[in-house]
Amino acid sequence: MLNFLPSNAPSPVYVLGVRVDRLTQRQVLAALRQILSSARAGSRPPCQQIITVNPEFVMAAQKNTLFRQCINQAALVTADGMGIVWASRLLRQPTPERVTGADTLVELARLAAEDGYRLYLLGAAPGVAEIAGTRLQELAPGLKIVGTYAGSPAPEEENEILERIRTAQADIVCVAYGAPAQDLWIYRNLQRLPASLAMGVGGAFDFLAGRQRRAPHWMRRTGLEWLYRLYREPWRWRRMLALPLFVFQVIRKGSRPS
Ligand code: UDP
Repeated sequence: MLNFLPSNAPSPVYVLGVRVDRLTQRQVLAALRQILSSARAGSRPPCQQIITVNPEFVMAAQKNTLFRQCINQAALVTADGMGIVWASRLLRQPTPERVTGADTLVELARLAAEDGYRLYLLGAAPGVAEIAGTRLQELAPGLKIVGTYAGSPAPEEENEILERIRTAQADIVCVAYGAPAQDLWIYRNLQRLPASLAMGVGGAFDFLAGRQRRAPHWMRRTGLEWLYRLYREPWRWRRMLALPLFVFQVIRKGSRPS
């Protein structure tokens, strides 16, 4: 695994065995820029995976060892979700702030527009990635979106999707199939993904396309984005049952001597 983290970055925190890099949004952007520029410089390392972890990911990774391996081996793992920031503090290895997939996608689009990297948007319901792409181009003027495709995470579609990405000559692939499907899709295909960077972005295309509304700023700041999502999308309650268990297990682990 190549290391693109800043040399002064603290070592990652492991929340219930799941790695989280303790970086600010700015440091994450710098690392993404480094991944892209080193690929452009010709060394062409294999595609690098970015994962934005929230408590649901951590709980899913308790049972799904492949998912845990995928996260722990990624080039960069950010703390999406206030629960992760809170857990890192309790474990006395604090991560400085939330670095969400939705925000990182917009920052990545600006970086791509500035430096001329080509973006491919994969996933979400048919038509959503196109609208999200148009919105990203408004937020990042000059951005090259070289392809959008809904497809599905089914293994039998992989070859066709990889061929589309190859033909588009993408540098960055953002995948919206929800977790863990999107992150496992990237992990499975990492060695043959014809791009420099791939990131799972969950519902970010839906937010950009206006299909889902993001929580107001004050709720994001105070760590209540999960509550807003539950209010907007009540079907999530079952998935969110993982949250109290997450809190309980982190507190139990945090009180244990290390
Ligand atoms: N999705 C998809 N194909 C699938 C499953 C999900 O395109 O087989 C899309 C879905 O339309 C949505 C995104 O993946 O745009 C996942 O959104 P969700 O909000 O569930 O992800 P989260 O942010 O919770 O990881």
